[in-house]
Amino acid sequence: MRIALVAHDKKKDDMIDFAKRYKEVLKNHQLYATGTTGKLLNEIVGLEVYRFLSGPLGGDQQIGAKLAEGKMDMIIFLRDPLTAQPHEPDVTALIRLSDVHHIPLATNLGTAEVFMKALGDR
Ligand code: PGA
Repeated sequence: MRIALVAHDKKKDDMIDFAKRYKEVLKNHQLYATGTTGKLLNEIVGLEVYRFLSGPLGGDQQIGAKLAEGKMDMIIFLRDPLTAQPHEPDVTALIRLSDVHHIPLATNLGTAEVFMKALGDR
């Protein structure tokens, strides 16, 4: 599976913790991420991740483009619901696109864990 991972700044610690816990599952898949999230996943967790641009520079939109082309199978996007993001329209657009194309997208840890359990059972 091609999985995209994104975490807003206040959720990056959660993302790292999540990826550590599910490293054995994640490492069996092709991973993509926005710039900073990908760097952390690579350097701290040790996962091989293809990095798009940072979110504020258009990384969410790059993930959206892949998704629209049928080249992304799952998105884990840990959003910070309490802080306005400068690139909020891109975030919303990505979520909308996943609904258009029936691509599973988790916006919080609870859903992300259910996804990992589903992948782990395969
Ligand atoms: P980042 O982008 O991983 O480059 O910080 C995430 C975001 O803020 O959408």
